[in-house]
Amino acid sequence: MDTTPSNIGLIGLGVMGSNLALNLNDHGYSLSVYNRTYTLTEHFMAQQAQGRTIQAAQTLPEFVNQLAQPRIIMLMVTAGRAVDAVIEQLLPLLNSNDIIIDGGNSNYKDTTRRWQELTAKAIHFVGMGVSGGEEGARHGPSLMPGGAVEAWPAIRDMFQAVAAKVDGVPCCQWLGEGGSGHYVKMVHNGIEYGDMQLIAEACHLMQHALGMDFDAMADTFAAWNQGKLESYLIDITSQILRQKDVDGSPLVTKILDRAGQKGTGLWTAQDALEHAVPLTLIGEAVHARMLSARKDERVAASLILGGLEAPVPAEQRQAYLDAIHDALYAAKLVSYAQGFMLMQTAAKQYGWQLPYGDIALLWRAGCIIRSRFLGDIKASFEREPVPQNLLQDPFFVVELQQAASGWRKAVALAVMQGVPAPALSSALAFFDGYRCADGSANILQAQRDFFGAHGYQRVDRDPALHFHTHWGA
Ligand code: NAP
Repeated sequence: MDTTPSNIGLIGLGVMGSNLALNLNDHGYSLSVYNRTYTLTEHFMAQQAQGRTIQAAQTLPEFVNQLAQPRIIMLMVTAGRAVDAVIEQLLPLLNSNDIIIDGGNSNYKDTTRRWQELTAKAIHFVGMGVSGGEEGARHGPSLMPGGAVEAWPAIRDMFQAVAAKVDGVPCCQWLGEGGSGHYVKMVHNGIEYGDMQLIAEACHLMQHALGMDFDAMADTFAAWNQGKLESYLIDITSQILRQKDVDGSPLVTKILDRAGQKGTGLWTAQDALEHAVPLTLIGEAVHARMLSARKDERVAASLILGGLEAPVPAEQRQAYLDAIHDALYAAKLVSYAQGFMLMQTAAKQYGWQLPYGDIALLWRAGCIIRSRFLGDIKASFEREPVPQNLLQDPFFVVELQQAASGWRKAVALAVMQGVPAPALSSALAFFDGYRCADGSANILQAQRDFFGAHGYQRVDRDPALHFHTHWGA
């Protein structure tokens, strides 16, 4: 039996852990693996690890003793209490300067707490967002590490080797202290919710407002994937729309319209509210999933309140399709602008120096939101000076101006036909609000002062001064 110390230890041989273990080993790193349920370890060793430099351990002491020092231990276990439980079991077995990496979808607040607790015990803790699902873990994920920077030199080569690459640049860069890696992963997941919702709304408009069949919709998405909307999600949507059930009908027509969610979109929306960032599009995407869950109530309401209007005449279809394309592109831009606004606000609060250009780059491949468009976002963060907001970037200003009329036409179509398009339309409302120099909040302030004597500032006086009026007097 080989007793050479392993380069890295991996705990948790579920979907992600087993694939990441094989990926690490493909790149020349020897591993020890441990899983709480040993039968899974045995199965992995027999089915997937044959002939590889991977050692199995039945107990944690055995596992820890198999590792080169200082130890590098990666956890790929269910987020939440399981992570704390495993860390607690490991701690008595570790030495100072050993490294623990949590690659699960942990809440960044938990990661910050764990980083603080482990730093006090001289253990270097890294919270690393891992995106790309099973396929990414096996062949090149997007990796978002943050936490104890002392760990980075020891783990950089290993994780940059296994990560996805764009023009040879790995989608794995150091993001900052504490929970910054998991924060960026959380925002990534929120943006994923937004992108998925926008695409779903575009499909719904094509089907119900334009009366298109699913093959025509699939063709449209395939064509769009050749242009500025090119992305993984547009590509798979084309494939999804083309997929037939055993009876030859489109499979999507058989899928219940009730969306599941694991919570990272909700975390992003909640975090945006806590940070006072108007993350409207991702919020709408979360709300849309919540409304989708009320299937029975929606069915009942459709009988009382009436359903959709008839589709527009076929000869108008192409013009509306072009409009939906532009709406999708512009709304997506708003979604990313809002996501970066959230990260910029949180970074200020937590004292992180987030590398925004690198974040755009490390989402450019390996993850679910990978798209051509992220290259344009990276370019924006390379400008001198960096624009205050992506919506003020010279490139995106032109793109938004070009897309605006189609965007309005698509939202108007949704409104007139009664097709719900909350993300497309709330993105437009945000855009209009964002570029509105004179908003409507003067009325709100007057109302607040009227009923609650909350006071208001005046545009023609020192903003430090607050005024109160005896309204109606
Ligand atoms: P999975 O297939 O359900 O595997 C879960 C693993 O966690 C198993 O090895 C399980 O061990 C272990 N585990 C659960 N509770 C434990 C405990 N109390 N103590 C020790 N081990 C425990 O999960 P997965 O899909 O690989 O996901 C792992 C992590 O990656 C999660 O945080 C997930 O959110 C995140 N993630 C998943 C994806 C994805 O596409 N699946 C993508 C990115 C990130 P047993 O076999 O003993 O139950």
